[in-house]
Amino acid sequence: MIYRAKTAGDCVLGRQSARQSGLICMDVLAHALYGATLCSRSGLAGGRRGNPGGRWYRDITVLWAVIFGLAPDIISMWIPFLIHTLSGKEGIFFVHYDGVWLELYRIVHSLLISLGVSAVIFLVWRSGFIPSLAWTVHILCDAVSHDEGKFQTLLFYPLSDWGIRGIPFWRHLWFTAAYWAVLLALIAGIILWRKKR
Ligand SMILES: [Zn+2]
Repeated sequence: MIYRAKTAGDCVLGRQSARQSGLICMDVLAHALYGATLCSRSGLAGGRRGNPGGRWYRDITVLWAVIFGLAPDIISMWIPFLIHTLSGKEGIFFVHYDGVWLELYRIVHSLLISLGVSAVIFLVWRSGFIPSLAWTVHILCDAVSHDEGKFQTLLFYPLSDWGIRGIPFWRHLWFTAAYWAVLLALIAGIILWRKKR
């Protein structure tokens, strides 16, 4: 029987709950926003002055920070997920996720790679350096929001298989709530800091 997803949630987690798919969407959005909040001119990296133009949506570094903030998952998950969905393969994406894609997942979720990418960008594209650090921010967020197992973040892969035993966000609603609270507090903090001039 060909597996047919009934909802967007089914696409991602097979027959798991809509709540878990919702948490995954929140996670994607949080990666984008953490990247932009910390690694763009409009965000913390812009210091007290922020983006000289004032408008975050006209700030190109916001767009780059979002792209770098999502890059590890775009490269290693969104592409195979698209292939899996379009090919109408049977079974649950995350269960079948293995082999070359899992290897790629580990490589692009390694600090050695993200910092290496940022070092190269620093040399060839100076203004892209700060936004590129959103990739490293993504890895640090994943490190604490994944536990042991297939999707653990192996921080120094391929030199070491060590990773933090984090709290899996897809099983704990409170954890997603907490990292969103931290994100919103950061945004509010930056806004207040700049207003106090
Ligand atoms: Zn990730």
